[in-house]
Amino acid sequence: MIRTGQQYLDGIRDDREIWIDGERVKDATKHPAFAPIINIRARMYDMQHEEKHQDTLTYLNGNERNSMFMKPPTTQQDWWDKWRGVDNVMKDIGGVVTRVGDETIGEMWSLFDGRDVLNEIDPRFAENIDNHIKAVLNDDIFHVSANTDPKGDRSRRPQDQDPDMMVHVVKETDAGIILRGAKYETAAAYADQAFLKPTVANWTDDKLSDYAVGCIVKMNAKGVKHICRSSFAGRGSVEDYPLGNRFDEVDTLMVLDDVLIPWEDVFFYRHTKAATYIRSTLHRYSAFPYVLRILYVADMLIGAALWNVKQTGLDQHQGVREKLADLVCYREGINAHLVASIAQAEKSPGGLLMPNQSLLYAGRVHACSNLAQMMHIARELCGGQICVTPNVAQFRNADTSGWLNKFYSLNDNWQAEDRRKLLAFARDLLNSDYAGHRLTFVQFAQAPHFNHLNAVYHSFDFSGPLDFVRKAAGLSEQVAGGR
Ligand SMILES: Cc1cc2nc3c(=O)[nH]c(=O)nc-3n(C[C@H](O)[C@H](O)[C@H](O)COP(=O)(O)OP(=O)(O)OC[C@H]3O[C@@H](n4cnc5c(N)ncnc54)[C@H](O)[C@@H]3O)c2cc1C
Repeated sequence: MIRTGQQYLDGIRDDREIWIDGERVKDATKHPAFAPIINIRARMYDMQHEEKHQDTLTYLNGNERNSMFMKPPTTQQDWWDKWRGVDNVMKDIGGVVTRVGDETIGEMWSLFDGRDVLNEIDPRFAENIDNHIKAVLNDDIFHVSANTDPKGDRSRRPQDQDPDMMVHVVKETDAGIILRGAKYETAAAYADQAFLKPTVANWTDDKLSDYAVGCIVKMNAKGVKHICRSSFAGRGSVEDYPLGNRFDEVDTLMVLDDVLIPWEDVFFYRHTKAATYIRSTLHRYSAFPYVLRILYVADMLIGAALWNVKQTGLDQHQGVREKLADLVCYREGINAHLVASIAQAEKSPGGLLMPNQSLLYAGRVHACSNLAQMMHIARELCGGQICVTPNVAQFRNADTSGWLNKFYSLNDNWQAEDRRKLLAFARDLLNSDYAGHRLTFVQFAQAPHFNHLNAVYHSFDFSGPLDFVRKAAGLSEQVAGGR
């Protein structure tokens, strides 16, 4: 089934414990910090029911209509369809949001791929994986990702400090396991559930650990506390900060204060081999939508910079065009990795079709690690006016509007209001607190840079370059099998 926006809103109106700015939130759907992003998520649910969007956002699964985003991919067309769906959504909402479900569901497909491995390690939980994959599809669940713990002092084992620095099992009962700890999670406060698993960790030679646990956590479960960072919505007017006011995806420190996880929601428990396996395959699907989002960010950079130089007439300069071309190379680099990862997609161990791993992970490094530099090129092209322009209230004030209209009107095509709007957009994209936050999100939200490089190292087939150089340099045959 596919849910409506109203069904989603009703689903998160429960007694979940949410805190923000020192205040307990009674109903997130009505709270100014959360309402804008929740309305976008609700809009996505509603779009699935609209004739205009139904074919791009849903598909017929037997007699049931399901979300295109939640469809386990088995063909290249599935990936093109998902891309088309994302394109539809981003154009409809007029901005970029990341944690809206489609880019976290891939973690569940990785789990599905690992079913046989997990089954071998501990057969108790294999059925739970199948059931949850079905439930996400059937119930159109908004899923988020819980990987990262506060971790504390990394030079010490979790057991040798406050043990809650990493999520762990404190007790087993007939009903399930009891979890303690905390995770950083974007969008958790307004999601249905999270797939929780250990963060990147060094398990040394321990075979069993209370910290090796993977499960579903319901966001309204007793003992789950959402302690949120301040929102960017409401900081200044929407006219002055058009992105932060509409698209901020509030992050949560999700505290697990002795939370009961029923056995049917447990995927692996105690076996460090299972935890290591899951971590190593976690992003094999979800990296695709993560990188795809950055393609839209790149388009915003190009659009903001080009409109600006069109307004000011600077687009005629060769030097300016070269900077725009640098932005285009960045954008097309992302595009090329995504397209190629579909064109050379690979069969997964579970029989699904995963984007070509080496190309996808290399594309993630390209998109994430170059973003700061690209933002700076766009900032430079926009010029200093993005940070010195007075706010909308000054443009509307009778005593100052005359001056501002005079100095912000450029020619017959470009009057002050459009100039003000573009500068406000560019400021929120490149210079604001929200802009810095989004840059940090891209650098960290799907693990930090070293982890992205590690994924490239493990997915690239080094035998090609090794063989090429062995032959070109005339190395002996026997080195082929050596270290
Ligand atoms: C905006 C935002 C949203 C987020 N959303 C989510 C979410 O939805 N779900 C989720 O689970 N997590 C989320 N995270 C958390 C994110 O996954 C972590 O920030 C990330 O895993 C890094 O962990 P850390 O912040 O504790 O950094 P640290 O572990 O302290 O690492 C800091 C730096 O130390 C270096 N470093 C650390 N360990 C190593 C190593 N082994 N080898 C080499 N260098 C190393 C690297 O330079 C690294 O960048 C989010 C983070 C941000 C900033």
